[in-house]
Amino acid sequence: MLLNSQEIGGTGSGKAEKDLKGLVFNIQRYSIHDGPGIRTTVFFKGCPLHCKWCSNPESISPQPEIMVREARCNGCRRCIEVCSSGALSLASTGLWLDREKCDLCFKCIDACWEDAIEVAGRYMSLDELIEECRRDEPFYRNSGGGVTVSGGEPLLQADFVLALLSRCKALGYSTALDTCGQVPWGVLDRALDIVDLVLFDIKHLDPDEHRDGTGVDNRLILSNLEKAMSSGKSRIWIRIPVIPGYNDSNEYIEKLAGKLNGMKAEKVSVLGYHEFGRPKYQSLGKAYQLSGRKPLGNIRINEIVEIFKSAGLDATAGY
Ligand code: SF4
Ligand code: SF4
Repeated sequence: MLLNSQEIGGTGSGKAEKDLKGLVFNIQRYSIHDGPGIRTTVFFKGCPLHCKWCSNPESISPQPEIMVREARCNGCRRCIEVCSSGALSLASTGLWLDREKCDLCFKCIDACWEDAIEVAGRYMSLDELIEECRRDEPFYRNSGGGVTVSGGEPLLQADFVLALLSRCKALGYSTALDTCGQVPWGVLDRALDIVDLVLFDIKHLDPDEHRDGTGVDNRLILSNLEKAMSSGKSRIWIRIPVIPGYNDSNEYIEKLAGKLNGMKAEKVSVLGYHEFGRPKYQSLGKAYQLSGRKPLGNIRINEIVEIFKSAGLDATAGY
């Protein structure tokens, strides 16, 4: 079943809370990297950016997607037999999915006994998600943790996500929003009224470089960051994915550090590029675009952290 943006709780859905649905692709428990304490991080599907280094490529499309794990497939053909769209076939290279033909009926998932086919993304109600979060309540209480919404870009499903955050607040949970910042200011401003903490990602200060790396320029993102900082409504921690050959030169990091210091950023997290998400590209039938780049070692990441610290910022390697 495919739902459009308003049906899944995008901005202006006009729906009663009980009728809202959110499209979620992962719920990570015991997370210690997405804000203070032990947290439950809910990952929402759909993103306005297409970062070449994205380690969660299943987060980008705002629809459910079939993922095929070829290494598990034994060629039994059970999935092919139940697929009435003719979208599946066995090629010499393994199971082949024609995504143009697939109507997301998901019959193949139940048919496969090897768990070689799965779906990324499921529609959930607010009650279902709150129930998931409630299970972790003792951890929040003992650690000062709570619920973080991430993605993708969670604010693409603003009505649903803001309703979720409001209910979490009402239950006394700490709330955090992990955002790429590419959303209308009015939407981010509504979020700032609710969340305790924003984890704000900055990919590049140069608009052309930003477009090259992510598919969009950075004007809205930087404008939103400045407005959010000056609003003083919630704490804001900056996250910097450092990509070799893209935004890792000393000269660039010094410029970024100067800008963030000028904004009085509370905290900066330096996140090193990695390729852990690479196998997922194959499962989704997508090409990985950053081949040939080696992750930066700890020594270089720590050098970058030191540049931020020298500029007067509270910077750490990792989250
Ligand atoms: S049912 Fe599973 S194991 Fe069998 S061919 Fe399909 S994907 Fe492979
Ligand atoms: S989801 Fe349905 S249409 Fe798509 S490959 Fe599976 S069985 Fe075929």
